[in-house]
This record gives sequence, C-alpha cells and structure tokens, in this order.
Amino acid sequence: MTVRRIAVIGAGINGLSVARQLLIDHPDVQLTVFEKESEVAQHQSSHNSGVVHAGLYYEPGGLKARLCTRGIQLVREYCAAQNLPYDACGKLVVALESEELPRLDAIYRKSIANGVPDVRLIDAGEMHEIEPNCIGIKALHSPHTAIVSYGAIARRIAEEIQEWGATIRLSSPVARLRESADGVYVEGEAGPLNDTPFDRVIACSGLQSDRLATASGDEDDPRIVPFFGQYYVIDPAFREHVKGLIYPVPDPRYPFLGVHFTKRIDGEMTIGPNAFISLGRENYSGDGINLRDVADFIGYPGFWKFAARNMAVTLRELKTVVSKATFVREAAKYVPSLATVSVKPAVRGIRAQAMRQDGQLVDDFVIRRSGRITHIRNAPSPGATSSMAIAEYIVREVLDFN
Ligand SMILES: Cc1cc2nc3c(=O)[nH]c(=O)nc-3n(C[C@H](O)[C@H](O)[C@H](O)COP(=O)(O)OP(=O)(O)OC[C@H]3O[C@@H](n4cnc5c(N)ncnc54)[C@H](O)[C@@H]3O)c2cc1C
Repeated sequence: MTVRRIAVIGAGINGLSVARQLLIDHPDVQLTVFEKESEVAQHQSSHNSGVVHAGLYYEPGGLKARLCTRGIQLVREYCAAQNLPYDACGKLVVALESEELPRLDAIYRKSIANGVPDVRLIDAGEMHEIEPNCIGIKALHSPHTAIVSYGAIARRIAEEIQEWGATIRLSSPVARLRESADGVYVEGEAGPLNDTPFDRVIACSGLQSDRLATASGDEDDPRIVPFFGQYYVIDPAFREHVKGLIYPVPDPRYPFLGVHFTKRIDGEMTIGPNAFISLGRENYSGDGINLRDVADFIGYPGFWKFAARNMAVTLRELKTVVSKATFVREAAKYVPSLATVSVKPAVRGIRAQAMRQDGQLVDDFVIRRSGRITHIRNAPSPGATSSMAIAEYIVREVLDFN
C-alpha cells in the first residue's frame, strides 16, 4: 500500500515537528494538521520555561535521554537556520546542604552517561565566578544549557510546512479516530472531518492525549493528570543578579525540578515553576474549576495512590501556591540578594503528565502505534527540547510506510 495521505492531530511543537519531518522525508505525501484552537501552539508549547535541556537528569538508554540529546542539536540548528534567538546561557544545579551531595553526584554520573558536553562538578569558589550572587556548597555546571522561545519555533514550523504544501485546519477539534478497511477517518463531535480516509494518523494532542487515544480505541492507561506550574517575573532592576539558570538539586521521587531561576529569551528573569494539581487541563488563569477534568483525576485510583505517597512534597508545593512570599523565599535560598525582590505573576503552564493506575508518574516518553494510528501518550519536559528528535523517531522508527 502506498502511503499518500497523512494527518497529524495537534499543532503544538510536537505535532508541527512531526508534520515537518514527514515532509522532509516524504515530500510527496498530502499532509493535514487538525488543531482545535484558532491558532497554533496555544498550550504547553507556549507555556513553558523555554529551556533547551542538556540531558542531565534522564535515565541513560531511555527515550528521554536519547531524544533530548539529539533534539538539542536539531533545535540549535533550526534556530540558526531560521534566525530565531538561541542563548546558551548555561545552568547551575546547586546543592545547599551536604545531604544533597549524593543526589548531585548521581545527576553528574547520569549526565556523563548521556554524553552531555563539558558538564562539571564545581566548588563554591568557581560557582561564585559563574553566578556571583549564588550561594551553595557545590554545583553541577552545564555550560551549554540554553534558552529559546518554543512558541516562536512552533509558529515558524507552521509557516514552513504550509509553504511546503501542508494544510493546517484550525478550530477543528477531533473527537476520535476511526480506523476502517480503507483508512482512518478523523471525526469531530458532529461527524467525519475528512471525506477521504487517511493512510496514517499521528496524534500529538498533549493535555488531551489520553482522551483522544481512548476515544479512538487505545488503552485507558496511562492517564493525563494535569500539574500546573506558576511563574513570577522579577523586578527588571534585579535581573542582573542572576546570569543564567539556577536550579535546586531535584528530589528523584518527583519528576518536577523544583522552583528555579530561569532567564527568558526576552531578557526577563523568572522564578518558577512550582508543581501542583490543576483544577482544569487548560485553566491558565487558575480561576474556576473544570468539572470534567477534576472528575477525571478524582475518579482515577492512581491519583489517590500518588497523593498518599507524595504528601510531604505536595505540602511543600502547596505552600508556594498559597503564598507568593514562600515562593520567592524558596528561590532566594540560592540567591539571597533577591529575598525581598518584587515580583509579578506570569501566565502559568500546565503539564500533560501521564500517570499509571498504580499512581506512578510515567517518567519516559510514551509513543504507541497500533495499526495506522500512532499516539504520543506522554511527552512532558524535555518534550519541547526533544520535539524535532521525537519527530525523527516517529517518522523513521515508529511509522510503517509499507
Ligand atoms: C510549566 C512547564 C514548563 C516546561 N518547561 C520546559 C522546558 O523548559 N523545556 C522543555 O523542553 N520542555 C518543557 N516543558 C514541556 C514542553 O512544553 C512540552 O513537552 C511540549 O510543549 C509538548 O508539546 P506538544 O506539542 O506535545 O503539546 P502541546 O503544546 O500541548 O500541543 C498539543 C496540541 O494539541 C491540540 N489538541 C489537543 N487535543 C486536540 C483534539 N482533540 N483535536 C485537535 N487538536 C487537539 C492542542 O490544542 C494543542 O495545540 C514544560 C512544560 C510545562 C507545562
């Protein structure tokens, strides 16, 4: 069978990168991207920290480790080719207490196993040379960790694939994918969105990925449980107190990295993100409750098992949610000169984090093909860094073109 017609669901950075890679490798295919919003990249891809992660934390041999390393190269080359800003500002992961040192060493060993270039453990003196206002007893320095705007990258890819002949159908929510003998029908609530079936469909629907997958006949496990991350922008007069990125040593039991200082590509310095359960998958204002979204996680046994196991971390994060002062204080442990800095809230991000029935958060990327349909079921951070490598992987290793 010749593969001629392909659909991608979701115009975030992953869906758009998959579409681009398909057109690079198979320029003759007819490609349609279905996106439920009226513009591309309205969800995770434009509500994140903008960090091009170097590959410090990921389990060697896993998809995250492999695709993050390759993704960095592809994102860097893409930004250079398209004249999009890319700032290799560097990152410190800082230990404040001696009890954190074994965990810092473990991250160092993982980063070496993952081939992260030029990463080093440094003492307080050297740390002071890199970030004069930062305190700590030891740090891991990753000099090539960078920042970008993933929203800008996604928008550029969208322009590019349309120049190459792809169609992006905005305001087109997909309810389910129905596979039949002649191909795959993409259906909205009111019926099919296409008359001629597609030969292959790749669903990259982020925060809605479990719903679209199960409505299309894929397994119910894992489920997306939404965790929001708040950010604050610090008073511009204090921006220079931090030169690049300063992170705590993460708790290995939890997949989130802890509140940190992140320089943004527009020059602003932000603090965040924390991580707490979101009362809506797309509730960026934080006001109100989406009853369907809440019912979904409340009714999921995995959520309660996760909550029971992570009570201490949950309470720590809750304190940063209810108190701006606590939020700033957490970060200022690393840069005391910013303890009283004034901050303004910035728009939050909401992570599409997959969770299993046993309450374990799924650490690695999950990409599953069944017949002609492929679903990305878990692509949290470093999903944006890895996006172009995820696309290569799907197009060259997951899809079957025969
Ligand atoms: C707070 C936060 C900080 C992060 N920081 C970083 C970072 O610094 N570095 C990094 O590498 N990664 C980071 N990430 C992760 C990164 O943002 C994501 O991995 C990445 O953006 C995922 O892209 P995506 O295209 O899969 O999903 P999304 O960007 O969410 O796109 C999914 C798209 O699918 C559409 N869609 C959904 N359902 C349907 C449907 N039924 N029909 C049609 N369209 C549909 C949505 O509207 C959306 O446009 C962060 C994430 C968050 C939330």
